[in-house]
Amino acid sequence: MESTVRVRFAPSPTGGLHIGGVRTILFNYLFAKQNNGKFILRIEDTDQTRFVKGAEDYIYSCLNWCGIKADESTRAGGDYGPYRQSERKSIYRQYAEQLVKSGYAYYAFDTSDELECKRQVTENFRYDQNTRQTLRNSLNIPHEAAGNLIREGAPHVIRIKIPKDEQIHFTDMIRGDVSFSSNDVDDKVLLKADGMPTYHLAVVVDDYLMKITHAFRGEEWLPSAPIHILLWKYLCLESEMPQWAHLPLILKPNGNGKLSKRDGEKFGFPVYPINWVDPASGKKSDGFLDVGFLPEGFINMLAMLGWNDGTEQEIFSMGDLIEKFSMQRIHKGGAKFDYEKAKWFNQEWIKRSSAKHLLNPVKAVLNNADIHEFSDEQLSGVIELVKERCVLLPDFVEQASFFFKAPDKYDTSAVKPKWDSKKHSFFIAFADNLSKNDFSDSANLEMKFKDLATEQGLKTGDVMLPLRIMLVGGKFGPQVFDIANKIGKEETINRINKALKAFEKYK
Ligand code: GLU
Repeated sequence: MESTVRVRFAPSPTGGLHIGGVRTILFNYLFAKQNNGKFILRIEDTDQTRFVKGAEDYIYSCLNWCGIKADESTRAGGDYGPYRQSERKSIYRQYAEQLVKSGYAYYAFDTSDELECKRQVTENFRYDQNTRQTLRNSLNIPHEAAGNLIREGAPHVIRIKIPKDEQIHFTDMIRGDVSFSSNDVDDKVLLKADGMPTYHLAVVVDDYLMKITHAFRGEEWLPSAPIHILLWKYLCLESEMPQWAHLPLILKPNGNGKLSKRDGEKFGFPVYPINWVDPASGKKSDGFLDVGFLPEGFINMLAMLGWNDGTEQEIFSMGDLIEKFSMQRIHKGGAKFDYEKAKWFNQEWIKRSSAKHLLNPVKAVLNNADIHEFSDEQLSGVIELVKERCVLLPDFVEQASFFFKAPDKYDTSAVKPKWDSKKHSFFIAFADNLSKNDFSDSANLEMKFKDLATEQGLKTGDVMLPLRIMLVGGKFGPQVFDIANKIGKEETINRINKALKAFEKYK
């Protein structure tokens, strides 16, 4: 049955979406799905000066890659639209005016130059209960004069009038009771001179009009909570305020402060889900997708940044998360980002994924490395053999390409010093043996190889590595007889012969 739970992610399209934002999306989404509720994506683009072209599309691309779909949004539509705040401009003024009428807000006519002057003279100048009497606003200017100024079209903003000496409380779903002194809060602008609301007014009005029941957002928004609580109260909105949860920060790997967008470059790991090109500088930052994460690994890693289910379990699919997620188990403290651990999650998901699921992403990395000569069936077989060895998708290039292409270079460090004519003859005999025998089973092949070695007075261990170098080029890859079996009889013989020529000089 559909419930009344309605949550929202409300990004401002001011740049690429950082993984902290994606984790907020994820927790909202999990909570909504778990409660058969709705997940709403609302674009908060009221600050036109910070608007970045492409940022909104980017959010949708990220959601798409993560397999998260908003139930209501600028694209999906819904009964409470429009879902882009700039298209709701006409809605907000009446609420701001209502606050002025009821004495909870006022018109302020100070120009930016005047305010700048104040800032020059007074260190940490704030427009608040201590300074508002000295400034140009409708609290100080006679009523009629203020009315005239507005009628004449004098630029003005509307500011909230924060009360003196009040304690403002709310219960956060993660932090419990949180309280603020009103004396620490300044008279924030609610409606700007261009008629656009600020974030504070728009977020309250829209959470109300869109019937949002729970609002989960980053911890950095906690200081805004008292303003939103007062606005909700002063506007006498008839429904309950949404229940808030302020999510702990994702911290830098050393735990020193919030993981920032710049940290990606500094520490050499991605901080965006998919690649982001900054339109101003043209600078491209690779995302988790580009470095070879599966969305499952990425989502799993994000969910564990600040949450666990109370057991030792670390691997969760989206379905498991929807079932197990609980707000109560979100930690209060920040979560240190650990890239090695992030990669571990991906490795686990590569291991757990079927060859069918991995086929397209692996095909893409191989094609990218200019390897095209394989059928889907061949590649699927190879994926099954090597996936245990891959942490990131590009690892498939090294681990899989030799199945489709004979090595043209050999890592001979272990072959060169011990190569002799005895070994040389052994491989000639082995290749000959292969050409005459059945070649369908790697266990059988291994047996023949070992028998021949014993027959020729060689230790299997001494010829096993050279065989690998001949087939693979290096000291890696799955079981060598599985490789031979996969590449087939003819190719195995060819590779042995080719390598024998190259090793001739070490005899
Ligand atoms: N527009 C705010 C942001 O960019 C939304 C904060 C909130 O969820 O209240 O994150």
